[in-house]
Amino acid sequence: PADPRPFKRAILKLSGEALREPGSRDNISPEIVDRIAVEIREAIDTGLELGIVVGGGNFWRGASASARGMDRATADYVGMLATVMNALAIEGALEHHGVSCIVHSAIEMKNVAEPFIRRRAEHQLETGKVVIFAAGTGNPFFSTDTTAALRASEMNADIILKATQVDGVYDSDPRKNPDAVRYETVTFQECLSKRLSVMDATAFSLCMDNHIPIVVFDLAPHGNLSHALRSQPIGTLVHG
Ligand code: UDP
Repeated sequence: PADPRPFKRAILKLSGEALREPGSRDNISPEIVDRIAVEIREAIDTGLELGIVVGGGNFWRGASASARGMDRATADYVGMLATVMNALAIEGALEHHGVSCIVHSAIEMKNVAEPFIRRRAEHQLETGKVVIFAAGTGNPFFSTDTTAALRASEMNADIILKATQVDGVYDSDPRKNPDAVRYETVTFQECLSKRLSVMDATAFSLCMDNHIPIVVFDLAPHGNLSHALRSQPIGTLVHG
């Protein structure tokens, strides 16, 4: 399939770092979370069905902790719990702006979130609730990008919107090569043959196998999230 836009149901992947003010000691910036909520509210009003998968890298990354000697599985569970903090912050901000939403946690934490139940979550999407997927896949050795690929697949989402700190996929690293060129669209096959990195290998292959296109875009400039959520061209579209 080529361009799936305009789409009806999307999974927004927010990296943990996207919630931090650059250079700040605070892991979560309430102002950034608030701005994200405003842009989401406007898009929801147009009838979009939205699931959000949030990362935890603003607090913790399992792989880095394990490189420094910690048991990997333990470090990964810490990372999954970190994503729950981000999910609660996003839930609070969305609620504040009148967006009906719910957190589903892949690790049970009944006092603050529903346990993840696929059919329930899909039904809530159908009724227009924003569903925030916390605690990753619930399993160590995976990433929240893989979680986004998994939830998008099982929720029958049309697309993954990957909000990150680069404005798309380049033919070479734009930080090292000033002549790097950004793709507007690129196929999964081209990404493989040119070794372009979009997501980690597990996440990428899930998307490719299940024909879930991905838009990679920069969250920082105001309005970018709105454009992405409204199916407007932005960043790079990776498709089947
Ligand atoms: N994590 C995990 N299993 C999952 C998802 C996440 O173990 O299914 C852990 C892993 O340690 C990861 C951390 O949670 O480093 C935070 O997630 P991620 O690094 O994907 O966050 P992001 O980079 O998107 O902020």
